[in-house]
Amino acid sequence: MVYVADDKRYEMMTYRRCGNSGLKLPAISLGLWHNFGGIDKYENGRAMVRRAFDLGITHFDLANNYGPPAGSAEETFGRILKDDLGAYRDELIISTKAGYYMWPGPYGEWGSKKSLVASLDQSLKRMGLDYVDIYYHHRPDQDTPLEETMAALDLLVRQGKALYVGLSNYSPEMTIEASRILKRLGTPCLIHQPQYSMMGRGPEQGLLQTLEEEGIGSIAFSPLHKGILTDRYLNGIAPDSRAAGPSVFMNSNELTDEVLAKVTKLNELAAERGQKLSQMALAWVLRGGKVTSALIGASKVSQIEDAVGTINNLSFTDEELTRIDEILA
Ligand code: NDP
Repeated sequence: MVYVADDKRYEMMTYRRCGNSGLKLPAISLGLWHNFGGIDKYENGRAMVRRAFDLGITHFDLANNYGPPAGSAEETFGRILKDDLGAYRDELIISTKAGYYMWPGPYGEWGSKKSLVASLDQSLKRMGLDYVDIYYHHRPDQDTPLEETMAALDLLVRQGKALYVGLSNYSPEMTIEASRILKRLGTPCLIHQPQYSMMGRGPEQGLLQTLEEEGIGSIAFSPLHKGILTDRYLNGIAPDSRAAGPSVFMNSNELTDEVLAKVTKLNELAAERGQKLSQMALAWVLRGGKVTSALIGASKVSQIEDAVGTINNLSFTDEELTRIDEILA
């Protein structure tokens, strides 16, 4: 059956301006790092993307290497566009990235112009797109002059292959330098994508302030700390959870008694607020408006529904914020 998007899709979500740009992003965005690869069930990924869009999630985040195998998440997304969402292209913000290892030899990773240009051409082919909305340099590269990497991003915008550019995993210092180069070139940096959650507060050490000063928006990746900041692991490790799966980025060793004791207390506080812990964790990332969007992952449709439900309660009392800090101290 032909997919028709829900008429009410823009009633639930809120949209926040990304830095000084004219672009608004949904408060909740969906990333396709896990659960959309060639090894995963297509119909599950398809159902998640459709439900997300029906709930007002207009932004989908990819990278050249998402899978596994690398590249297959972009192929999956391309298939979903073809099957369902293609007619809504002008309502979608699709991002991809290059910088991590993608293909053998000296041009398959890092930040040379050769690598960034070739990788975006590959991504566009895999997704069946003429352009992406946001193209990121995925990680800093100490061996390539920053001018070259930024010039490559600027070039791709001028060629019409990307509308906006972003940086991910850059330090505050490199972000300032990159931002100044990009402003000079006439393609200002739209967005920075750092890891940020109640359990991963690195961006508070200067990055968030830098972004505000430079007029750059931000999208926090792994805001649920890969699933730890949810009720997922409160009663053991379910066989379908990320910790039980093959991900090299997370395993059950992270779920120590100390971590689980903290998560239990946070879960109690969330219940007092009338929220799930996952919702409190997303509201926390979005508090105060410094972060433009929380970039979640999901393995089931219900997790996307939970995330969108966060919008009902984004505010915290000072006492609640203090309690969160004390629990995590
Ligand atoms: P999260 O911290 O949101 O973790 C997502 C996982 O949490 C889900 O896969 C699911 O785990 C669990 N979960 C989500 N909602 C719920 C819920 N309501 N109840 C219980 N468990 C829940 O983010 P990710 O680590 O997945 O990262 C999100 C995105 O960020 C990626 O897809 C990618 O786009 C981006 N990213 C960018 C990086 C970069 O370097 N720029 C690096 C990493 C990610 P389970 O599978 O166990 O159900």
